Amino acid sequence: MRWHHMTGPEVVQLAQQTDVAILPVGCVEMHGPHLPTGTDGFTAEKLADMIAEREPCIVLPPLFYNINHQMRKYPGTIGVPPDVVKALYEAICDEAARNGFRKIAILICHGSSEIIAYHLQNVLFERSRREDQKPKPYSVFVLWIGDALRQLRAEAEELWDSPPEKVGHGCEMETSLVLAARPDLVKLDRLELLPEGEGPYFSKTVQGATYQVDWIKQVPKGYIGMPHLATAEKGERALNALADHYAQVVNQIRKYHPERDV
Ligand SMILES: [Zn+2]
Repeated sequence: MRWHHMTGPEVVQLAQQTDVAILPVGCVEMHGPHLPTGTDGFTAEKLADMIAEREPCIVLPPLFYNINHQMRKYPGTIGVPPDVVKALYEAICDEAARNGFRKIAILICHGSSEIIAYHLQNVLFERSRREDQKPKPYSVFVLWIGDALRQLRAEAEELWDSPPEKVGHGCEMETSLVLAARPDLVKLDRLELLPEGEGPYFSKTVQGATYQVDWIKQVPKGYIGMPHLATAEKGERALNALADHYAQVVNQIRKYHPERDV
């Protein structure tokens, strides 16, 4: 079901069975000394494959380039300007639609970048209101993994052994996800454990507001929490729960008619 693994005629054939395409989105950023910089993209790619196994849809080639201002001071991070990411989403959606996939679900696995996909939705909406421009022939749906994880956490408290405040970045959760998706790229032996009782020492000066935080000041090792508790089995359980959840969402997207439905 991966677009770039299929031949051109196979892509066309699949477009006759489903009009939904998933665009897996990650980033390139430091995830501690033990996880690859592509962590979020590998998770997105694996999850998209698992959704496509459950519900007919095509998986676009994953996008690793993304905005990244907060983690620029770590080694290995690549940040791309927001306008570039937005333009790239739009160009990919245009091309997916031209090939017959008129519902594009952008599966975002890099925190705080979901805003760019929402921005694209607003740009498309503005365009549809203007009389001098034709609306684009597709709908964009944002699947932000953070929302799904919050929902899952409420449903399945037992998913992680770490306390909720130690689940975040390069932690037990993310390490488990990569152990399930790309075990060949996890280097747990490189982990220098944070001293017991310490971490996450991510304590913002201003609470109750969203603002740009320079992560390296508060998270010098590039990860928080208890990644040593990670296992592939936990990652698989989480990915299965996420894939079940999103398969239901994709099922509804398939039935959705932009002219008829709300
Ligand atoms: Zn991540």
